[in-house]
Amino acid sequence: MLHIPDDLAPDTVTVLGLPTDENSSFLRGPAMAPVRIREVLHNGSANLCSENGLDLGREPRFRDLGDLDVGAGAAARSRIEEAVADLLERGARVLALGGDHAVTYPIMRGYAAQYDTLNLLHLDAHPDLYDTFDGSRFSHGCPFARIMEEGLVRRLVQVGIRAMNPHQRAQAERFGVEVVEMKAWHPDLRFEFDGPVYLSLDMDALDPAFAPGVSHHEPGGFSTRDVLGIIHHLDAPLVGADLVEFNPVRDPVGITAMAAVKLLKEIAAKMLEG
Ligand code: MN
Ligand code: MN
Repeated sequence: MLHIPDDLAPDTVTVLGLPTDENSSFLRGPAMAPVRIREVLHNGSANLCSENGLDLGREPRFRDLGDLDVGAGAAARSRIEEAVADLLERGARVLALGGDHAVTYPIMRGYAAQYDTLNLLHLDAHPDLYDTFDGSRFSHGCPFARIMEEGLVRRLVQVGIRAMNPHQRAQAERFGVEVVEMKAWHPDLRFEFDGPVYLSLDMDALDPAFAPGVSHHEPGGFSTRDVLGIIHHLDAPLVGADLVEFNPVRDPVGITAMAAVKLLKEIAAKMLEG
């Protein structure tokens, strides 16, 4: 069970670690990400200010609730969904730290209980729309197929995709997913949403030059500044987010951890804007 503090102000951004990588297909490691991100966030190498001047170290509406005891299998999905639903019922906004991308499906089930017109903005090299992957419907290659089958969001907009295959292209068409492939992306592109947005950010959306610490290197991606621009220019309430697929095992210099920390701060500041 997640301990939720009694004194949460409305719209507090609650950081929740989800240390699980049992649904990763190629390498393990993302389960270690939440601990590593916190270590770098607090190691004194950078301050806790976002670029718009908000000091998260002094912001009472920014709270780290630690890691959820996720467990495994179907129980893990239930625990994640329940923890998210409990936080939303208390008026919080969730900023989840994966973990692999499989966590986004139970997170969105928790959100769907509170938001019936949610828009999902998904930044990733991969569409993660497989019906099944390696025999599993809950692989980190499948979460957006489950989300769309269950109608958990009103719109799914995927940006940065550069690993489409025919099956996933057919899935995208079947579900009406709006896909902005990386080859079509431009820094001046703006995304318009009518209503609240949830951001699911796979660290492999970034080019491996900027974030080598991921399990699936897919060259030709975003710079860190590109992703910061997408966050900063978002013109809709950001009511939740996840930062997933950071794999500390592949990050010997620590640059991906620092990129994750930077993105965490800017996402949190955006969520606190209202
Ligand atoms: Mn992904
Ligand atoms: Mn990916």
